[in-house]
Amino acid sequence: MLRNNSDLSEPQKQAAGDRQEGIDWFRILASLLVIAIHTSPLASYSQQADFFLTRVLARIAVPFFFMVTGQFVLRGLFEIGPVSGSRNAGTGAVRKYLKKIILLYLIAVILYLPLGIYAGHYKGIGFTEIMKMLFFDGTFYHLWYFPACIIGVSLIWGLSAFLSYESICKLSVILYILALLGDSYYGLAAKVPFLSHIYDISFKISAYTRNGLLFAPIFLMLGAGIDKWKKKIKGRYVMYGGLLVSFDLMTAEAFLVRRLGWQRHDSMYVSLVPVMLFLYVLLQGQDKKNGKRIHKIKAVRIPAVTTWVYILHPAVIVAVRLFAKLLKLDHIFVKQSLIHYILVAAISFLSALVIGEIQFKCRKPFPVQSYSGRAWIEISRKALANNVAFLQSRLPENCKLMPAIKANAYGHGADLVAKELEGMGVESFCVAGVMEAVSLRKQGITGELLVLGYTHPSQFQLLEKYKLIQTAVDYEYAKELNSYGKPLHIHIGVDTGMHRLGERSENIDALCEIFEMENLVVDGMFTHLSADDVMGPEEEKFTHAQVESFYQVVREIEERGYTCPKLHLQSSYGVLNYPELAEDYARVGIALYGVLSTDADTRKWRTYLQPVLSLRTRVVTVRDLYEGESAGYGLSFIADKDMRIAALALGYADGLPRTLSGGKGYVLIHGKKAPIIGLICMDQVIVDITDIPETAEGDVVTVIGENNGEEILASDIAKSCGTITNEILSRLGQRLERIVV
Ligand SMILES: *Cc1c(COP(=O)(O)O)cnc(C)c1O
Repeated sequence: MLRNNSDLSEPQKQAAGDRQEGIDWFRILASLLVIAIHTSPLASYSQQADFFLTRVLARIAVPFFFMVTGQFVLRGLFEIGPVSGSRNAGTGAVRKYLKKIILLYLIAVILYLPLGIYAGHYKGIGFTEIMKMLFFDGTFYHLWYFPACIIGVSLIWGLSAFLSYESICKLSVILYILALLGDSYYGLAAKVPFLSHIYDISFKISAYTRNGLLFAPIFLMLGAGIDKWKKKIKGRYVMYGGLLVSFDLMTAEAFLVRRLGWQRHDSMYVSLVPVMLFLYVLLQGQDKKNGKRIHKIKAVRIPAVTTWVYILHPAVIVAVRLFAKLLKLDHIFVKQSLIHYILVAAISFLSALVIGEIQFKCRKPFPVQSYSGRAWIEISRKALANNVAFLQSRLPENCKLMPAIKANAYGHGADLVAKELEGMGVESFCVAGVMEAVSLRKQGITGELLVLGYTHPSQFQLLEKYKLIQTAVDYEYAKELNSYGKPLHIHIGVDTGMHRLGERSENIDALCEIFEMENLVVDGMFTHLSADDVMGPEEEKFTHAQVESFYQVVREIEERGYTCPKLHLQSSYGVLNYPELAEDYARVGIALYGVLSTDADTRKWRTYLQPVLSLRTRVVTVRDLYEGESAGYGLSFIADKDMRIAALALGYADGLPRTLSGGKGYVLIHGKKAPIIGLICMDQVIVDITDIPETAEGDVVTVIGENNGEEILASDIAKSCGTITNEILSRLGQRLERIVV
């Protein structure tokens, strides 16, 4: 048995991590209840008991599955992400789910086609009938569930674009009331001629109100917002008591509407909603108990198995009846309703297990394309999200992160990082050059893009075409931007002491004149602090002087009657060392990537910031090197003893600094240090693996990042090379593959 999580592949780990034990167990129970609805296990013994089991108790099964779908598929549409709403991230899950469920539905439709034909479902029916079947009623009686999921999920997905969670919930309640009036409460609707007329028409479109439009939304929404509901329903007594009371009410309600003869169908009751809510919250609480745990890997298969039970059981019912008849045993296997039920359930589960097993074996392995390369960069989504959340937590809510994703996002891969950040709710970015911004636009990044550096006038048209914001790097440059003749959006750079870019802060007249330029839309104004990384008395004094000059400009501008645009002063160190300087944006770069410029700072903030990037390569050759032999170019390394060496598929062209040659740097193989020997080549490097005899060709090597409890930080490498982390990262080569993990 696999005990150790590290024995699992990545997707298994994910799946195991996300599992919810209570929900998993209940999936099995719910599918047993669905079979009960279709076999009436107690019918031979008592009509009352059968009604209770199949028309009351078992009615929680389908809403339960809707709620699971809501929780795992729709939640992302509403979740409040680390920064703000992250609907983008949620949309991916919905698309994936819809693809999967539509495929499953198609398979089920085809599977039941012969049975449907045999049962005469298709005799003499027209196009509208087929559409009605396909979209609402299902092509076989139990298959209505799939179109209900598809329609319900699509509906909520669409609504979530312009309605809040609360509004869609309210709408779902209305839909559910409409559903009730066509189901258990039809007797009421039938009393109002107008209503009964409307329902009669609606039944021509969908034979029941138990469908994706009216019935599914409320449960999908409860599942999607279960985290909110969990906070409201706290404490064992409330949960158990609530479930008990609402279930009793539902039982009473069911028997009452039956007695009154109101039921046109019996899929739903008013009290079904609180029953589901209490039940689901209760199931959620079942995860941390130390009772019997489902084995994590096996648990991964429960959803698939229960889905197949759902799809297959009607076919099993037909088969059982057929065989019983052939064997002349129907007095036991069919007429004895409980035996019939047990037989159907057992066969359904067995066949589902077999299919589930096959499915699991045939599963596409986790996409490994990128891991098979010679050398690659892994971007940790989790670390990035952590850093976004941490940096944002140091800032007031109205100060938005404007990540610096220049220089290919400090070597991390600008497109990947920008997309991830957009998924986390980030809406503004800054880059150094106009082509970096254009490339991001072409990759579909829609947020604000500020070009921090110089753009040649011949490229001003790109600013316009791609809706970019340009920095006015000084007064003269602003004039040039203005003479482009068409409106351009700008942020004014103010030089408060760095003396690199920006109009000098003392030139108030020039700065104000920029506001007057007819073609320039001044969206923002910023300065860059040049000594905010060191907290010495000199540096602090200098920084405060910079800040003071900046606000002097702000005051003057306001006094002269211009509306003050968006402001920003902080970069990474500004957020860490001077959080109080927060304005409208914070241009965070290096910290976002989980490291800082120096090794000391990186370690100081290590518990809060997590390195996002790992750099890995492979062992290409392993060989012995005998005493006196040299390795690599130029006789720079001569073995002073017999040793074992390996060549790795990474060189200075990939960004491994050549200054790490000759033992200054090392890599990790199987969690152990392998020193670099000789001179680093353009595409290869040789390391000493005498102490790591288990090294084999193809083994993964960690150059930056964690490996079996050892870690090399980018800042370690920077320190060895006498530079800052920013340089090491931003020079990582173009030919490295970049993947998100
Ligand atoms: C690169 C850059 C930043 C980001 O700096 P970090 O120190 O990496 O956070 C901020 N502002 C300007 C003007 C920059 O050029």
